[in-house]
Amino acid sequence: MSTPNQKNIEIALAGESGQQAVSPVLLAEIFQSYEEAVVVADVNRRIVYVNSAVENLFGYNKEDLYGKETKVLYAEERDYAEQGNKRFNVDSRKGPENYRIVYRRADGREFLGKTTGAVMRNMDDQVSGFMGVIRPARSAEQSLDALQKVNTITANVKLSHEEKLDALLRVGLNHFGLEIGIVSHIEDSKYTVDSCVDYNEQLEPLTVFDLSGTYCVHTLTEGKPVGFHYVRESEIKDHPCYQNFQLESYIGCPIMFDDKVYGTLNFSSPSPVEPFNKDDYILIELLADTVSYLLFKKLAEEEMAALARIDELTGLPNRRATWERLTENIEQASRTGLPLSVLSIDIDHFKNINDTWGHAGGDLALVAFARVANQVGRKVDFCGRIGGEEFVFVLPGADKAAAQEFGNRLRERLADVQVEVADKEPIRLTLSAGIAKLEPGDTIESLLARADDAMYQAKEQGRDRVCL
Ligand code: GH3
Ligand code: MG
Ligand code: MG
Repeated sequence: MSTPNQKNIEIALAGESGQQAVSPVLLAEIFQSYEEAVVVADVNRRIVYVNSAVENLFGYNKEDLYGKETKVLYAEERDYAEQGNKRFNVDSRKGPENYRIVYRRADGREFLGKTTGAVMRNMDDQVSGFMGVIRPARSAEQSLDALQKVNTITANVKLSHEEKLDALLRVGLNHFGLEIGIVSHIEDSKYTVDSCVDYNEQLEPLTVFDLSGTYCVHTLTEGKPVGFHYVRESEIKDHPCYQNFQLESYIGCPIMFDDKVYGTLNFSSPSPVEPFNKDDYILIELLADTVSYLLFKKLAEEEMAALARIDELTGLPNRRATWERLTENIEQASRTGLPLSVLSIDIDHFKNINDTWGHAGGDLALVAFARVANQVGRKVDFCGRIGGEEFVFVLPGADKAAAQEFGNRLRERLADVQVEVADKEPIRLTLSAGIAKLEPGDTIESLLARADDAMYQAKEQGRDRVCL
C-alpha cells in the first residue's frame, strides 16, 4: 500500500499515461533519507511531494504544504514568477540547472538556498511536473571548498596583491551568500575601505566611514569574528548602519597586523541569510589571517624594492634608481616640451682625500656632499650617486643658464663645508661639473655622455668649476 505521500509522487512521475520508468515508491524512499530538501510539484506548480528535509529547512509540516503553490516557499514573488517563466512551465525545454534563491520559512525568516531545478517528463516526453532540490547555501563541505580556493589564490604567483584580495573577497561572498565584501583599514574612529567587491557596484575603495556607523565597531569590541544574519530581528536593529544602509546580514573579523588591529575583513548584504555557524567563523578568521599575511608580504616587498634603489652610504638614489627617474623625467619633458638639464658631477682629487684622511674620512666627505645636494635642490630636482664619487643632478624645467647658476650655487655651498674628522684637519671638498640640456632625439645615454664631456672639460680647465 502506498502512503498518500508516495501516491502523490507516483502521479507526478507517471503522468496521465501511467507508464513508469522508475518506481516512484523507491524514489520517495531515497528522497526521504536525503539531507537536501526535495520538493515535487505538478504542472500547475502545486506541491505534491516533499521529503522530511523540507520540513526541517522550511519549518512546515508536509500536510501544510500539499496542494499549495510553490510560491509559499519563495521570499520574493518575482523570483517565483521568474522561475515559472524560465523553467517551471509545460513548454520548458530547460535541463536541470543550479541557481540561488532566497526562500522564506514558515516563521518568516529568509535564507539563501542553492537549488537544482528540473522539469520532469513522462514517457511521452510531456512535462508531468517539476522538481527542486534545495540546500542551504552554506555547509561544512563548502567551507572545505572555500579553503581550497583560498590556498590556490595565495599560492598563485601570477596574481598581484590587489587581484589576490579581490579573489579572496569573492570567495567569502560566494561562501556566505552575501553581496558586499570589504577589507577595511581602521585608525581611531576612521574606517577606510582598502579593497572591496560590491555586486551592486556602489561601494568604491578609499570611501571613508565613521567606525561607529559600521557593524565593524562590534567586531573590534569583541576582538573576534562577529555575525548578524538578520539584523531586523537582532539586538542591534537600532544600529546606525542598519538605519542608514538597511544591511540585514553581516559577518566580520579583525585583521591583525604586527600585534595591532589593522582593520577588518567583512561581508554584508541587504538580505538576511541563514544563521552563521562555527565553520563560518573559522573560515572568516582564516580569510582575515590570509589578508594579514598578504599585507605583510606586500610591505616587505615594498621595503626590499625601496632598499634596492637607495645608496647605502649616502641615502641618495643609486645608479639604478637614478636611471629610472631620469628616464621618467626625459619622457615627461618630451611630452610637455619643458626644458630638462642634467649635471654630471665628480668630486675633485678624491684619491687624495682617501690617502690623507683614510677611506672612512672619504666616506664622511661623500655623506657631507649628499647633505649639501639635498639642501640645494628644489623638490622636483634630485641627485643620484652613480659611482664612487660621481653623481648626477637632474633639474626638470631648467635650461642651460638655470643649470649653470644651480651648479655654481652647489659649488659655493660645498666650499663652505668642513667635514670634521677626529684628530685631523677638517676635509674640504670641491667638485667639477658638466651641464647638458635635453635636445630632441636625445637618449639617456647621449644626454649623460654630453654632460660627462663637459665635466672632463671642467677637470682639464683646473677643476672646481661648472662647464657647459
Ligand atoms: P679627479 O679630480 O680627477 O676626479 O681625481 P680623483 O682622485 O677624484 O680621481 P678619480 O675620480 O679617478 O678617483 C675616485 C676615487 O674615489 C677612487 C676611489 O678610491 C675613491 N672611491 C670610490 N668610491 C668610494 C667610496 O665609497 N668611499 C671612499 N672613501 N672612496 C671611494
Ligand atoms: Mg671619479
Ligand atoms: Mg674625482
